Order: sequence, then structure tokens, then C-alpha cells
Amino acid sequence: MKVYVFSDMEGVAGIEEWDDRTDQSYANVLLRRRNQHLLTQELNAAAAGAFDAGATEVVIKMGHADSILFEELDERVKFIRRGVTWLQGLDEAVDVCFFVGAHSRSGTADGVLAHSWSHKDVKAWYVNDLEVGEIGVAALAAGYFHIPFAFLAGDAAACRETQALIAHVVTAPVKKGYGTHSALHLSKEQARTLIRQKARETLGKVPEIQPFSVPPRATSPRYVFRQVTTYTNLETSDDGKGTRVIAPDTYEHYGDDLVAVLRRGTY
Ligand SMILES: [Zn+2]
Repeated sequence: MKVYVFSDMEGVAGIEEWDDRTDQSYANVLLRRRNQHLLTQELNAAAAGAFDAGATEVVIKMGHADSILFEELDERVKFIRRGVTWLQGLDEAVDVCFFVGAHSRSGTADGVLAHSWSHKDVKAWYVNDLEVGEIGVAALAAGYFHIPFAFLAGDAAACRETQALIAHVVTAPVKKGYGTHSALHLSKEQARTLIRQKARETLGKVPEIQPFSVPPRATSPRYVFRQVTTYTNLETSDDGKGTRVIAPDTYEHYGDDLVAVLRRGTY
């Protein structure tokens, strides 16, 4: 069984601050190195759980720039450091998708570092009429290839958001948010043990989990990925290639191929 693992940074135990990639101060370099280590070890725990349960291949896709320590990764995994797109390596050969380090969507009150792609620019995302965050987009992309999105590790709000979308999904809540920058964290070992155990359980549950989808619209464009921004001065336009501005704060990526539409919105 081939496992594909989406990864992000904000849902890791021990992390409750935005990753500042511009601050080159010694303190920030140390903090970033620590956070990269914590994420890498949670990914290793998920991979170990999958291998415990008989996975034959685990591919980890780095979702958050410069967030994984390659030299610390479990020697059995394969790694996509920089994809051409966010969804690189996701295709029909994958049997099940995991997500580690996940956070809830923009606007979630008890979500640690809740956001959808950019906490500065994006207020809300919708695919057709379903409100989603990065979890929903990842699950939809997996569903497009008929792959069940079956396991997620992140904060409690991210786990709740996933359970609301996908019946029988397995989750590992590694911290519980009090607010954007505040949480009750499991210790690093408790978090890794929970992730490994839940990831192991997941492979047995894959047959119960349906690939996630949203109903296509009745007429073309079948899919619309609407992005409500924090801007107020966008000008109505249509580039004729699949992106249009429909309101001073809202644009849409549209088309008949769901993954093409999602890719336009995430790069
Ligand atoms: Zn993210």
C-alpha cells in the first residue's frame, strides 16, 4: 500500500507562532530549526505507523516551505522537497493520503494559527458552495484521484474540521487551541506515540473511508474555487484562462477539471 503524506507546520505539537522566513536573527534561526525538527519527527511517527501496518511505500510531500529536515527523515520514506505544484506526486498510484502538521481554516476561533494559505490575504475559501481550508482542498485533490483521505494529525480544531468533512477519518490531536497563539500541547513523545498508533490503525480502516468530493455544478464551469480576500479594491476582470474577479474582495478560479482549478488557487 502506497501512502502519500501532505505536511504543514502550524499543526505540530510545540508550535504556536507563525514561521518567519525573513528574520535571520540567531534566535529565530534556532526557533525555526527546532520547529523543523519537531515536524520531521511527527512525520517519522506517521511513517512508522504506516510501515508497522504493512505500508510498502511512504511519500512525504513538503507543504510548508523549508520545514522538513531531510537528514532526519526515516530512511524508509521518499521525499518531495519542492514540487512544481502543491500536489506534486499525488496520482492514481497512491492508495491512501495522510496529513501531518495540519491547521484549521481561516476564521476558526479555537484553531492554533488558523488560516487558509495566507493569514494576511485570505478570509475564506469555498469550493462550489462548501467552505474549506487547506485540509478540505487536500482531501478534494485526493478524492479526485479516488484516494481516501484517511488520517490527519494537527490541533484539535483541525481534527474536528476534518471529521466534519470525512466520515470515519482517523485523527491525532496533538494540541488543543485556546486561541491563535495559545494551546495546550502534548509533549513531543506523547504526540509522536499518538500519531504512530493512529497512523497504524488507519490502514485497517481505509476500506471504510470514501474518497472525498463535492458535487460538480450542473453546467460549465463545473468547479469554482472562490477566494474571499482581505482586499477591498479588486477590479472586476476575467483573464479568460480560469480566473476572474467577481467582487472588490473576491476572485474565483473556475473550470471543469477540479484539480486544475485547485492548482490555480494554490499557486
Ligand atoms: Zn498551511
